[in-house]
Amino acid sequence: MSWVLPDEVLRDAPGVAPRPRELADLELLLLGAFTPLTGFHTRADLASIARSGRTADGTPWPVPVTLEVPASATESLEPGNPLKRVLVLNDPEGAPIAAVDAVDVWPTRDGFCGVGGPVRRIGDGGHGAFRQFRRSPEEIRSMLPPGRVLGVVADRPLHRPQLAQIAYAARTIAGHVLILLPVAGLGPDGLAPEVLVRTVLAARDRMPPATLVAVPLARRGNEIADAVLRARVAESYGATHLLAAGQGLSGGGPRALLPRELAYDGRDGQWRGADDIPPRHRRVALTTEEIDGLLDRGIPLPEWHTPPAVARELARARPPRRDRGLVVFFTGLSGSGKSTIARGVADELAETGERTVTLIDGDIARRFLTAGLGYSREDRDTNVRRIGFVAAEVARHGGLALCCPIAPYAGARAAARALARAAGAGFLLVYVSTPLEVCEQRDRKGLYAKARAGQMGGMTGVDDPYEVPDAADLVIDTTDLDVDDAVDLLLEHLAAEGWLDRPTASPA
Ligand code: ADP
Repeated sequence: MSWVLPDEVLRDAPGVAPRPRELADLELLLLGAFTPLTGFHTRADLASIARSGRTADGTPWPVPVTLEVPASATESLEPGNPLKRVLVLNDPEGAPIAAVDAVDVWPTRDGFCGVGGPVRRIGDGGHGAFRQFRRSPEEIRSMLPPGRVLGVVADRPLHRPQLAQIAYAARTIAGHVLILLPVAGLGPDGLAPEVLVRTVLAARDRMPPATLVAVPLARRGNEIADAVLRARVAESYGATHLLAAGQGLSGGGPRALLPRELAYDGRDGQWRGADDIPPRHRRVALTTEEIDGLLDRGIPLPEWHTPPAVARELARARPPRRDRGLVVFFTGLSGSGKSTIARGVADELAETGERTVTLIDGDIARRFLTAGLGYSREDRDTNVRRIGFVAAEVARHGGLALCCPIAPYAGARAAARALARAAGAGFLLVYVSTPLEVCEQRDRKGLYAKARAGQMGGMTGVDDPYEVPDAADLVIDTTDLDVDDAVDLLLEHLAAEGWLDRPTASPA
């Protein structure tokens, strides 16, 4: 990182906010956790890695570390001129984090460019929860005792089986434990990073002596690449051994240090090799699904499996469904019955007082929250995303959000789902599948008549597309259904799934 970076060059440099995955990689580069890498790969590096697993200068490196930005941000860059090729990388709030010396810039896809070159930290180093656990490899290595170090990438909470595995592996190599907490984005179980850190901290007194470090290690969705990168990063932090992602620790993949599965021995409450325990005394680790199922229903995690402090943190982060925020997202043609059903559900819940409800009606949203947007594909997506954003915030705080835009595009519906999930809330997609003929016959707002008469374009179902959901949680066709029955159908579904305490009694 020896390139010269005069202030005036920095001042005039274009800036861009990379995407979360790239920001995470950037942070690892800046921390020195990707040593010997000092920047984002160039085209020459990428070609060389694909060919030989080495970067262009011959450094062994297995996985591309790339930066892709809108082409508009690179227009003024001159890769041949060291004073005119600096690109500033900002955090999502627009504060500068780093400068990249863009020695290579190339078009990737429509409107985007790849940028390769060394990076250097600028600005004040950012912010974020649990900063005291974000240390550089250099710092961590200086804190570790001499001798062997067992690296453990804890991307899931540590229950007793995982704790037993760690203790067992640490004993096996007679090493100190180094827990690496991946904090870039949601974990494989959908846990927010701060929840993960809290649950692991809650297990700290059940571990052998351990050093904890938070690393902005994002998953690439490619298991092999992820495993290789984890190993690289763990090594840079001083791990001499790695408790590789094993069943029960990371839900699949090879295990480096565990010759066999551990199980709970009911005779003495110890975790040991499953084969050494007679079947009637043996209890195996719960799966993530089983754990989530208990949490969803508000059933305490069994103490034989989970230390109480860990269980408390998990129950706080994933309260029982009846107390957890939920987004019910209706989609369907205009006049299919979305608003009518949503209003009926809201009225019912207002009567029971069981949940606080925010109703985001499509038409009402368009008059205020999303005012000014039209009916182009882009505007429709923005409309749905804004509604999804507000709904997720409602649900983050335990509320029930009922949203009824038409939401004709699967992509925007998926984005709304992702926002709710990231807020720790539930998300139910309700497809009101009433066919066009019926909606058109009802023509409550006279829109279909106008569209047919050519007075209005872009009417969903008439001359604008509707992508039928293939993964709706509930489908309601209101053609031959009373409003009350449609409302009951949804209420019953919510109760059956645990989001409401009980089916609501009818007044009759
Ligand atoms: P959307 O919100 O999907 O545009 P609305 O709820 O505004 O649709 O309009 C649906 C129309 O269909 C209303 O006039 C409503 O009275 C009528 N309708 C008939 N049966 C049902 C039913 N089972 N559920 C919902 N609406 C129904």
